[in-house]
Amino acid sequence: MKKYRAGKIKREHSVIEQLWPVLEHIAECDLVTSIIPGPISPLGTHGFEVTFQRFTETGLRLLAKNGAAVQEVYLVAPDKQSTLEWLAAEGIVAWKPPRKATPQRRPVPEPLRTVVLPSDMACSVCGRAMRAGTRAAQLGRKRYTYAHVRCAQK
Ligand SMILES: [Zn+2]
Repeated sequence: MKKYRAGKIKREHSVIEQLWPVLEHIAECDLVTSIIPGPISPLGTHGFEVTFQRFTETGLRLLAKNGAAVQEVYLVAPDKQSTLEWLAAEGIVAWKPPRKATPQRRPVPEPLRTVVLPSDMACSVCGRAMRAGTRAAQLGRKRYTYAHVRCAQK
């Protein structure tokens, strides 16, 4: 088979129906240096779509499907991310930028733990005495301190 180019599009393989105009559209993009359609495989699904598969060493790999067949398309594009954004902005591939990490929720305050004091001790908040046998708030995670329940809730 004689290889030839229609613009940037390499025609080593024929192209599935509906894909050619998309490739011509992509060929308009300055970010893309060449477009290499891969071999065609038979398929049993319906509908035409072009999806972004992954980045390659030299650019991007797309997958085109029509009702009858599926075909990989390799784009040679030095600026891969901008090319993908261009393809998405042009509506050629369905792709959304990954969501930014959602800000972390505020830590939920731990439920107040109360204990019965085994001995008299000073409240860690107000410093006043707490009597043995009364309920007090237990604060902290490893080294506990104790406080009046009312003081701990402030
Ligand atoms: Zn207190």
